[in-house]
Amino acid sequence: MRDSQQNALLVAPSSLIDIGVNLTNERFNGKIAEVVAQSLEANVTKQIITGTSLASSEAALALCERYPGQFRCTVGIHPHDASEFNSSTRSNLRDLLQNSYCVAVGETGLDFNRNFSTPQDQEKAFEAQLELAIEFQKPLFMHERDAFERQHEILKSYRDHITDGVIHCFTGSKQALFGYLDLGLYIGITGWICDERRGTDLQALVHNIPPDRLMIETDAPYLLPRNMLRKPKDRTNRPAYLPWVLKELSLHTGLSELDLACKTSDNARRFFRLPEHFAPANEVENESVSDFYRL
Ligand SMILES: [Zn+2]
Repeated sequence: MRDSQQNALLVAPSSLIDIGVNLTNERFNGKIAEVVAQSLEANVTKQIITGTSLASSEAALALCERYPGQFRCTVGIHPHDASEFNSSTRSNLRDLLQNSYCVAVGETGLDFNRNFSTPQDQEKAFEAQLELAIEFQKPLFMHERDAFERQHEILKSYRDHITDGVIHCFTGSKQALFGYLDLGLYIGITGWICDERRGTDLQALVHNIPPDRLMIETDAPYLLPRNMLRKPKDRTNRPAYLPWVLKELSLHTGLSELDLACKTSDNARRFFRLPEHFAPANEVENESVSDFYRL
């Protein structure tokens, strides 16, 4: 594919699962088929689409319905949007959480870096979503920025009741890393690690993450990996670029890319309870299509 040559597409040594893609972002409008095809070319065979609001969670579910062999999604309210959380939000989320394509509650958590919503509103929305995760027995997809102490404290008080959780796009301190690992949580690593300026602390930390707690993600369209040989002209990150994150992670963990590919995909399958065959046979009529999207 000409486009992939321009972007110096890397092909993963074993199939990868991108656990965090914002495919409902307007930058992907009208481009989903192309994103899917390019991901398959790079051996990034499945993506978990991040829901960050009611509207984006609904849009994510609609994408899952269009590409059942490729996508699953999370349903939740991002801490930036926490001020919009009210009692009807809770019941709307409950409706969406019934959908079997929804595999986690989130993106939720605390972000005291930018405080787009007040810390009080963020904590309220976070706790409401922790309760929903318990009610639906679904894992949590969490964000945290400059809020480790409070997030850890809240999580600790709910830990016995929640099934599982991942801190996505982890960029925190050693203390935060060990705090989350002590709670038995998973850690999501993005292209932040590929950043030779602000990613150095993370590069030095990742060898501490047990391989069975590690998952990888692009956070597309954000965080374009800076180690890409040739960057796409539109500067838009895509799930097809996940092998660049794998490559950088391999350098700093000492684990081979193949090993990391197998481990992170196994972890994602276990964490999100993904079926072995993604597309139920009765949902995909055309056999060649189902083979194409199946792993
Ligand atoms: Zn996030």
